[in-house]
Amino acid sequence: MELYRLLQQQGFGSRKECRQLVDYGLVEINGEVAEDYRADIDPVSIDELVVDGEPWPLLHLPLYLMLHKPDGYETSHKPLHNPSVYTLLPWQLGNLGISAVGRLDVDTTGLLLLTTDGQFIHALTSPKRHVPKRYEVTLKHPVTPEFVKHLTAYVFLKDENEKIAADAVDVLDEITILLTITQGKYHQVKRMVAAASNRVAQLHRVGIGVLQLGELEEGARRLLTAAELAELG
Ligand code: URA
Repeated sequence: MELYRLLQQQGFGSRKECRQLVDYGLVEINGEVAEDYRADIDPVSIDELVVDGEPWPLLHLPLYLMLHKPDGYETSHKPLHNPSVYTLLPWQLGNLGISAVGRLDVDTTGLLLLTTDGQFIHALTSPKRHVPKRYEVTLKHPVTPEFVKHLTAYVFLKDENEKIAADAVDVLDEITILLTITQGKYHQVKRMVAAASNRVAQLHRVGIGVLQLGELEEGARRLLTAAELAELG
């Protein structure tokens, strides 16, 4: 593959921009400055790629990754009042069309799944799929048996003409529950909790299907493993 095309595929910009990177001597392959943007490069032969002084691990597309979303970031390419979660990723991924699989509210933290695979987003967010999403919910008022019963039986969401129930509610302590839901409605957890006469103080997503946030640090990201991807289907 011609070098400038490889750079384009890695998200370094337009054809012109990628050709210029090589022309300006800003691309090094295996320790040597590349001179010809048309050079035929086998990606397998690249042990080390450095672009504009930064090492770049070659991406294998499509990309599937999880991010530990911090508080205060909007899950939007066009944020209104806060920085975008996409600013937490290398800018090159923006050129590759990376998008979140569903959204987390600005004040929700935890597992955000991101991909360059539009079909995967479509499949995973389809209402028919019922992928379980697990949230650690810190409440404003103590948990009561009635509250748990209410969530697991059903609640009516305002503006929705149907009953909705949690798939599971595990009480973790006096004010914290682990809530599992399989739908992905707008502000769903906050609305369900409000409908059951409590309020969400903090919301943190810990899992989606087989995926677990685990020990991933806030703001950090990692690629999904092949096993995780196969199980997510
Ligand atoms: N439910 C909510 O209310 N907010 C989120 O961010 C995710 C689920």
